[in-house]
Formats: sequence, C-alpha cells, structure tokens
Amino acid sequence: NKRVGVLALQGAFREHRQVLEQLGCDVVEVRKTCDLEGIHGLIIPGGESTTIGKLLNIDGMGDEIKKLATKDLPIFGTCAGMILLSKTIIDSDQYRLNLMDTVVERNAFGRQVASFETDLMVPAIGPNPIRAVFIRAPYLREVAPNVGILADYDGKIVFARQGNLLASAFHPELTPDQRVHQYFLDMIDEYWAH
Ligand code: GLN
Repeated sequence: NKRVGVLALQGAFREHRQVLEQLGCDVVEVRKTCDLEGIHGLIIPGGESTTIGKLLNIDGMGDEIKKLATKDLPIFGTCAGMILLSKTIIDSDQYRLNLMDTVVERNAFGRQVASFETDLMVPAIGPNPIRAVFIRAPYLREVAPNVGILADYDGKIVFARQGNLLASAFHPELTPDQRVHQYFLDMIDEYWAH
C-alpha cells in the first residue's frame, strides 16, 4: 500500500490525512525527521509558512526533505506548502525548502478578497472544473520553463508541477472533490514504478 507522509508541524494536516485515507493510503503524520523513513510521497499543508519553516529548520528535517526531493520523492505543497517549495519568495528571507524554480508572492490576492472560492479549469485533471478554496493564498508570479502550469486564476498561476514537485495555492483538502489528491497519488505511482 502507498505510504504518504503529511507534514504535521502546524496547519491543515488533518484534512489532508482524511482525504488520503479515503483514497486508501496509509498516512504518516511527519513531526520528526525519522517519520520520513519509508514514505512514498509527502504533503506539505497550508498554514503559516514562516512558522512551518522555522520548525523545519530546527532539527534538520528541512535538509532531509530536500535530500529526499532530489532523490525524486514526490512532494505536494498546498498554500503555505507552495511558499516553502519555492526558491524565491517576494520580499521575504524566511526559511524555505528552495526546491521549485518559482517566484511566489504571499497573501497575493489582497485584503479585500483574502479568502474566496472559485471554479478552476485544470485540463491535466479533466474537463470538469474543480472547486478551489483560497485562504490568504499565495500565487506564482513567475515560473522557469521547466515548470508546468496546471491552472491559473485571473492570469495568476495557482497550480504548477516541476517533475516530482507539485504546488497549489488553493486547499484541495477542504472540498469533497478528491481529484487533486488522486493526481498526486498518480504522480507517486509514476515515480515509484521505476
Ligand atoms: N498566508 C499564509 C502564508 O503566507 C499561507 C496561507 C495558507 O496556507 N492558507 O504562509
């Protein structure tokens, strides 16, 4: 069975756990470096990216995640997770995993519309739109040519993939539609097939 880790330092990790269990995975809540052993994929949840980053930096868990990422471990960052995966964070020197060739802007949808829901077209997932929940969400201002854009909203990149790395600005764990998680599980199958 697939063993998927959910980083459980802070933020919306329980909701990810539920979706993954509904999809038949064994779920490991990752709190210490040793919890990373034996997982086939990792989700970095939404929350507060500065807080999660500080905690990742304490006992070297961030370094271990980076090492596993370069060995092709599939990693999916949602919201704060997207921020932590990005190499460049506009106007911030906060800790990051520094893995995706993306430029991210935090809290990028402004105060008035800090949180909202919308239908997003994601051709890689299917013809029907997905319902996307944004909560003080970031977006990707720029991506390198090796990053695939899976969805944008209002011209802003909100879902992208770079090889074994996947990042969404929205929270797929907060809606009943499981297709985004299924997409990540398919990535895991792809990477563990060879
Ligand atoms: N605004 C948060 C941050 O910058 C992210 C919000 C979220 O994960 N829902 O870390």
